Amino acid sequence: MDNARDDLIALTQELIRIPTLNPPGENYAAICDLLDTRLSHAGFDTTWVRAEGAPGDSDRYPRWNLVARHEGSRPGECVHFNSHTDVVEVGHGWTRDPFGGAVEDDRIYGRGACDMKGGLATSIIAAEAFIAEHPDYAGAIEISGTADEESGGYGGVAHLAQQGWFDPKRVQHVIIPEPLNKDRICLGHRGGWWAEIETKGEIAHGSMPFLGVCAVRHMGAVLQAFEETLYPAMASRWTEMPVVPEGARQSTMNINSIHGGQPEQASDYTGLPAHCVPDSCRIVIDRRFLMEEPIEAVRQEVIDLLEDLKARRENFDYEIREINRVIPSMTDKTAPIVTTVHDAIHAVLGQDPTYVASPGSYDQKHIDRIGKLKNCIAYGPGVLELAHKPDEWVGITDMLDSAKVMARSLETLLLP
Ligand SMILES: [Zn+2]
Repeated sequence: MDNARDDLIALTQELIRIPTLNPPGENYAAICDLLDTRLSHAGFDTTWVRAEGAPGDSDRYPRWNLVARHEGSRPGECVHFNSHTDVVEVGHGWTRDPFGGAVEDDRIYGRGACDMKGGLATSIIAAEAFIAEHPDYAGAIEISGTADEESGGYGGVAHLAQQGWFDPKRVQHVIIPEPLNKDRICLGHRGGWWAEIETKGEIAHGSMPFLGVCAVRHMGAVLQAFEETLYPAMASRWTEMPVVPEGARQSTMNINSIHGGQPEQASDYTGLPAHCVPDSCRIVIDRRFLMEEPIEAVRQEVIDLLEDLKARRENFDYEIREINRVIPSMTDKTAPIVTTVHDAIHAVLGQDPTYVASPGSYDQKHIDRIGKLKNCIAYGPGVLELAHKPDEWVGITDMLDSAKVMARSLETLLLP
């Protein structure tokens, strides 16, 4: 494996140099082509899967996914490594070319270096090294490069799961090499519930607001009720999930946006506002919840608060529209993929891993809910806090250590 260093660096650079920005979802075909060439050469059978009809899929921006499968010499279980190929926008503050893949000391720089092209390259190196050393292994190894994780995974893993690619009859173990650090095992993630709330008013002349109903004041009452009731209630809930950072071990809610009354004018508009009482105000809430909270209770808690306002506040009216929901996912510590990677980390790094759970979510949700496959973790090199930041990088030694952990895990699972 130590001889693989140059190869690993070159592969990571090649992946970084394809700017798979999402949105809008650029260059998925190009990165699938790179993976296809590489993995076909290593003896994998490859399948291209386009998520036709998924959000964002179009002839201009097709959602291409690649699944590669290598069969062992006899029957056994299948271990699947899943990596998303998309990266988020570059943003400001870079001092290196975000798509250059510069190597400095022990680091490779670029957008997606840690999240998660470094992890993808690591899993490829690990699988190739394992196959070369144990050509007679039992079972199968799959590696997939999938689209759209950064925008919910509907054009990627969700689509593959709907097509049966994660059916427990054909895949038994899944590792998602997201950047959780080489000595941590991520068991799952919290849930998310997104909704838009609109308060309703009645338009009137701004000089006689008593003749109308101000939707913005109604929204103020909603926000006040959140502060007085909902936020303290959420802060009092504490999950058994090992979520990091610590602040995310409680229930949280972000208010994503607020819009009320007249639309904002362009910055070069020099006129004055018209005098109107706003008849609509909207917020989008982003509620992250815990394994211990049923999603219906999460929803009902917000509706109860709004209904309470309706009962005691004159002319209060509202509408609520659900935008999206993600169910929490949590793999048991006794699951075979967890104990296997645990022992491999111990053997390679000489220490016990830390178990963590993600405050946000990643593609495990689709493998769990749609694929009905519970034996899934995130494990891979890279520092999570660098994801989506300027000058994102991945450590070369960390990738090599993670590759050793992955290869050793394959030995445990596929060399019975
Ligand atoms: Zn990621």
